[in-house]
Amino acid sequence: MTHPFLDLAPLSAARFAAIEDRVARLLGTEQDVVIMQGEALLPLEGAIRGTAGPVTTALNVITGPYGQTFGNWLRDCGATVIDLAVPFHTAVTADQIRAAFAEHPEIDFVSLVHAEAATGNTNPVAEIGEVVRAHGALFYLDAVASIGAEPVLPDAWGVDLCVIGAQKAMGGPAGVSAVSVSERAWARMAANPGAPRRSYLSLLDWKERWIDGGRKALLHAPAQLEMLALEACVERLETEGLDAVMGRHRSAALAARAGAVALGGGLEPYVYEEREAAPVATTLRVPAGVVASEVAARALESEPGLPLAAGGGALAKEMIRVNHYGVDATPEAVKGCLTALGAALAEQGLDVDVEGALRAVDGGRR
Ligand SMILES: *Cc1c(COP(=O)(O)O)cnc(C)c1O
Repeated sequence: MTHPFLDLAPLSAARFAAIEDRVARLLGTEQDVVIMQGEALLPLEGAIRGTAGPVTTALNVITGPYGQTFGNWLRDCGATVIDLAVPFHTAVTADQIRAAFAEHPEIDFVSLVHAEAATGNTNPVAEIGEVVRAHGALFYLDAVASIGAEPVLPDAWGVDLCVIGAQKAMGGPAGVSAVSVSERAWARMAANPGAPRRSYLSLLDWKERWIDGGRKALLHAPAQLEMLALEACVERLETEGLDAVMGRHRSAALAARAGAVALGGGLEPYVYEEREAAPVATTLRVPAGVVASEVAARALESEPGLPLAAGGGALAKEMIRVNHYGVDATPEAVKGCLTALGAALAEQGLDVDVEGALRAVDGGRR
């Protein structure tokens, strides 16, 4: 008897290329799109190691935990790194980027996270892209948490390296990921003696041995199950329509924000300004004297499937994340989270209004 996961015909190069083309359409890009055979950290790291070196001066924008990681990779490549850190409750502005260029005209690389699922903020990439393009720096963007939840337009925004993963708002697999690469970025890599070659991290390998050869022969056996899952996920996204999927995420974010405010109990949106709150996930600050990880654990005990988590690392004490993405980008998922959070906060003696929160979810939907 054949097994649906195990006894599969090999994934052909043509099918692989067709999946790449569908992902490129999703990004609305004319640039090369490479599907990498690993979780999104693979192209995130590969793109930095491919383009950065001792001659690079990088402006590394830190609006959450990933920015820290990018800075470490850049330094490891020998780049001079100028960190621009903004508090996690807000977004970076185009003016801050402009000011950094004025102070350090030698900047030739900018790394930025679009939306941060971990901190719940989203950055104005269109405006920042204009500033970066005017300056002429290479623009690297982590769009893993924004793709599917809000517009991601690498060509219109002048993004040279745009990394996405399917595991968040696309509702797809985590084991493969993609990056769009501009001509400028390829040229930077080709000129970089430190760019990985004959390496799992290498984007140039894919350029030289896959793209330049007309995408006829794969470099190695692809992660077949993950590729099929990615294909299915893009297909499902196309069927619902990207605009509808993004609308669902935006509605869920607005509902979660309005619902949390109505719930009370001292719970507050972690990101102060609504326009800086990411559609992919809503982060909440618990009141002083309450431990967020305990509240989240209690809420999950009552309802184990809820898309709820405490913040990562040092944020575990103060932040709760409502991960309303993928199939959870619905008012029902948001209501489930708020109900369970309300019960957990009430247990701690806090005054909450669950009914009011549920009404706000319905009213907050646009
Ligand atoms: C989720 C996410 C990634 C991918 O990392 P995992 O934690 O392994 O899923 C990368 N960048 C951002 C901004 C993310 O939100």
